[in-house]
Amino acid sequence: MAYDFDLFVIGGGSGGVRAARVSAQLGKKVAIAEEYRFGGTCVIRGCVPKKLMVYASQFSEKFADAPAYGWTLGETSFDWPTLIANKDREIERLEHVYRGGLDRTDVTIFDERATLKDKHTVQLASGKTVTADTILIATGARPNPHESLPGSELAIYSDDVFDLKELPKSIVIVGGGYIAVEFANIFHGLGVDTTVVYRGQRILGGFDMELREHLQNEMQSKGIRILCHTMFKSIARREDGRLDAEMSDGNIICADQVLMAIGRLPNTEGLGLEALGLELGHNGAIPVDDYSRTAIDNIWAIGDVTNRVQLTPVAIHEAMCFVETHWHDNPTRPDHEIIPTAVFSQPEIGTVGMTEEEAAKTYPDLEVYRAAFRPMKTSFAGRDERMIMKLLVDAATKVVVAAHIIGPDAGEMAQLLGIPIKAKLTKDAFDRTMAVHPTTAEELVTMY
Ligand code: NDP
Repeated sequence: MAYDFDLFVIGGGSGGVRAARVSAQLGKKVAIAEEYRFGGTCVIRGCVPKKLMVYASQFSEKFADAPAYGWTLGETSFDWPTLIANKDREIERLEHVYRGGLDRTDVTIFDERATLKDKHTVQLASGKTVTADTILIATGARPNPHESLPGSELAIYSDDVFDLKELPKSIVIVGGGYIAVEFANIFHGLGVDTTVVYRGQRILGGFDMELREHLQNEMQSKGIRILCHTMFKSIARREDGRLDAEMSDGNIICADQVLMAIGRLPNTEGLGLEALGLELGHNGAIPVDDYSRTAIDNIWAIGDVTNRVQLTPVAIHEAMCFVETHWHDNPTRPDHEIIPTAVFSQPEIGTVGMTEEEAAKTYPDLEVYRAAFRPMKTSFAGRDERMIMKLLVDAATKVVVAAHIIGPDAGEMAQLLGIPIKAKLTKDAFDRTMAVHPTTAEELVTMY
């Protein structure tokens, strides 16, 4: 049977756009539907605008350090609407880049919601239907709205931060993961009175414990309030328009905004999947096999909607594996092992591979090489911040199995460390590499 398209992609984020564009470059007839804006979470309301805000928030410490380097600064002030307007312009530019890539490869674009009528028929919001041989779902995820929490409708979510009309004077952030931690540092750096409410013992569950402890201490010493072992109970609007955030211990914190950052839910609602007999997994995620195939033979899914690892580069990698497996008939499993990652906290975290706690269970003879020092740039300015770097080595093979860094540029280092660690290089290979001096990264090749 002839279909309108070889491939129909639902969702115009990083994964969906990559799969559409590369498939079209192979000569396939491709369509893509996006109901909001091309670029998805990462470009429109995630990684990119967040990183711009991280940069903005770092100026306060830079200004504070400047006199040590001989600079005399005049009065400084921060204007939130200027940052937001400039950020909007940059996001618009990137959105055009995404759309331009689709146009240039002759992908048919539908700027509307698409759902599935049957396994080969896509229903568009405009009323039109089109057919496709293969369907790829890449609809991403959205913040968990925590609807059962009394007053949750008064909270904002990470999506909303990027469009706030004004910078709050105070904020309570619920959660202890990537988003809570990154935004706590952003808001604090911009001068906002910031409180983090986390149900566990230490923020950033899943990361190396030494880094978690170090980050929590650093954030607290900068002035961010972190309430651990604290459950969040409710939010209520006060007469003066501010919010009362109540904890389970009865403690009430009054703030201008409450930001919920308790994870993200796959966007599968209303896509028509259940009607096709596709059973959804935990939190509505689409279950897929090792190659990103769903239980329906012509329907595939990649990215956050599958709830494997919710990271942009992972979605792009899954898109490329889909192309290789499906169009080149070369079964290629996305590799989810040893994913380098960064938390753009202040100080920043960069990490590759398992935590020291996990590694100690996996490798009976684990060697931990560790450097802790005050980086030149900040110690010169009188700042007492320490940087920690750890290489975890399997003593039996001398292979470096993981690296954990907290301090300036840790994310950049994690990216590069991902290569030798993926390649299973030994500590000896690190030691034989000449240091670049003076850098902080040189510690990685001079540890003994
Ligand atoms: P995370 O899964 O990282 O963290 C969720 C946090 O919310 C955890 O601290 C969790 O606690 C807590 N939590 C979950 N449910 C509840 C609840 N009912 N009540 C109170 N607390 C709760 O999610 P995020 O929202 O921070 O981020 C979503 C995803 O986005 C991440 O998984 C990450 O992959 C991605 N991301 C990546 C970034 C990067 O690469 N730099 C930046 C931002 C986001 P507990 O630890 O106890 O489970």
